Amino acid sequence: MVSRVIPVDTFDLVIFGGTGDLARRKILPGLFRRYCAGQMPPEAKIIGAARSEMDAAEFREMVREAIGEFGSAPQSAGQLDAFLERVFYEAVDAKGDGGWDALKSHLRDDAVRAFYFSVAPSLFGDIAERLNHKGLSTPDSRIVVEKPFGHDLASAKALNATLAQYFDETQIYRIDHYLGKETVQNLMAVRFGNTLFEPLWNAQYVDHIEITVAETVGVGGRGAYYDKSGAMRDMVQNHLMQLLCLIAMEPPAKFEPDAVRDEKLKVIRALDPVEPQDIVRGQYGAGGGEDSYKTHVENDRSRTESFIALKAQISNWRWAGTPFYLRTGKRLRARTSDITVVFKDAPHSIFGADAGRHRNVLSIRLQPNEGMTLDVTIKEPGPGGMRLIDVPLDMAFADALGTDTEAVPDAYERLIMDVIRGNQTLFMRGDEVEAAWAWTDPIIEGWEARGDVPVTYDPGGSGPEDALMLLHRDGRRWREIKV
Ligand code: NAD
Repeated sequence: MVSRVIPVDTFDLVIFGGTGDLARRKILPGLFRRYCAGQMPPEAKIIGAARSEMDAAEFREMVREAIGEFGSAPQSAGQLDAFLERVFYEAVDAKGDGGWDALKSHLRDDAVRAFYFSVAPSLFGDIAERLNHKGLSTPDSRIVVEKPFGHDLASAKALNATLAQYFDETQIYRIDHYLGKETVQNLMAVRFGNTLFEPLWNAQYVDHIEITVAETVGVGGRGAYYDKSGAMRDMVQNHLMQLLCLIAMEPPAKFEPDAVRDEKLKVIRALDPVEPQDIVRGQYGAGGGEDSYKTHVENDRSRTESFIALKAQISNWRWAGTPFYLRTGKRLRARTSDITVVFKDAPHSIFGADAGRHRNVLSIRLQPNEGMTLDVTIKEPGPGGMRLIDVPLDMAFADALGTDTEAVPDAYERLIMDVIRGNQTLFMRGDEVEAAWAWTDPIIEGWEARGDVPVTYDPGGSGPEDALMLLHRDGRRWREIKV
């Protein structure tokens, strides 16, 4: 099955930071894939804007190389050249006056205008102000704002207030690329498209839920940035919280931006504060031929966590009493993201104690091999009485749908097309981001006040031993992080 391509209106997309890492690795190759898929209107323009002095020809060469290195579009002869004809460049100083008039001259009155802020967050306000004062933005222009959106509640509020001076909330697209992942959207399809799950999706039937986002890589060249952030700010406050919201939210009345975002916000607001004993922080040591975290960040006193596991509780009628265990970390055994819903035991076993303890477990794999597994209890074949075993109903989406995975847009492509369509459903609203920081801030402040030091863990495993204990003490076990 090849994914259906829905045309979008013609657009002028300005990428501030067009020469940067994110633009080269994700945004530009993604746009080329949309071009090859036939989704980009022929007159659409992509205009790189960054500090470097270069002309359009030099920028096109840079884009060609980026697509060669990071792109995966199945292309026919001449497609890349034709795409590059739609690519332009202007040197613009986000903090100064240079280049803005030239940039403006590229923009058409009858096209959707989108401005992608793929630059350091410290420049977001400067760019928003100049777009407005220099007359580049129109009432229905859109801005796309990259993460991190603030460093804490105060900075997120300040940034929201700055952007609000120049843009309406309906024009602001705060990107969390996790929400653009196919399987993440599938969470909503599974929950709200089936009658099977939703009646059981509550504390009466669900024992607990696990969300794991594991990486094999360390901080690498991002050490200096990461050390100021850590797993809580870099992953939990945004990506894991968004997954938690999609799992836990009430059914929105419609699949529409504010209906969905209202429900997500209610989940964040219903989260209990997290007690210190319900959090484990870790930092990877040396091993497997690689240096320790501290070596990478060149700070042998760093207290920043590269791993975190925590127990979150949602105080509302649906979830009171069902814990959500979240964990994420670097230099773990495998690169995997999954969500596991463990249902409670059947209320009474007619098979007696010998049959053992069996549970239904729904596991949704976000990566790799996106798919779903549902463990179902059946009779173990053969004579000798009634012995039960759990067997997985296993569905890899690529196999089940015969999907040409090359043709499925990746998260950035999908989200950029949503910006052009004017669909904010998969973007975070300002109040959502603030609520997430309001929950996160006291946790981080607690560590700082106590001088909390993360425990060292061996690379290549599943994180610190204490993280296993977090569930053991509740009589539970994490799903294994499998290669
Ligand atoms: P980068 O340092 O590679 O690129 C920065 C870009 O900003 C360059 O094009 C540079 O020319 C431009 N720039 C710097 N100062 C400028 C100025 N005064 N005026 C105009 N342009 C200026 O950064 P990056 O890794 O591409 O990240 C960009 C944004 O995306 C950041 O907010 C980052 O947090 C976010 N982000 C990046 C990644 C990633 O994988 N790289 C992932 C998620 C989010």
